[in-house]
Amino acid sequence: MTEERSDSPAAGLGQADASLACRPGCGACCIAVTISSLGKAAGESCRYLTPDLRCTVFGQAGRPDICLSFQPSREMCGANRDEALAWLGALEAATTPPKRPTSSQGG
Ligand code: SF4
Ligand code: SF4
Repeated sequence: MTEERSDSPAAGLGQADASLACRPGCGACCIAVTISSLGKAAGESCRYLTPDLRCTVFGQAGRPDICLSFQPSREMCGANRDEALAWLGALEAATTPPKRPTSSQGG
């Protein structure tokens, strides 16, 4: 059975890999990805992430829906925080639409 760590960002979620729990002191998925509902850009720490990488709104209504998709998996979490940041950063880059050129035409 996997032990839940209730103060880690992704703890207690439905788990993509039942043998994994969210790694304390990681917080990679709270930093690397865009969370538009919070106005958070990729690479910025979430406003709810504490300096010791815990989620202050875990289990509360203010926690963004996207956080429910942060399920620990070997692919995403890797062997350490740096691997998780790299994997999530690559995913973010691959799923971010290219910026459209701004039009300077006016009427
Ligand atoms: S990348 Fe994995 S271990 Fe790190 S905070 Fe997210 S779910 Fe937890
Ligand atoms: S609200 Fe912020 S700190 Fe909490 S799980 Fe989501 S991204 Fe992480």
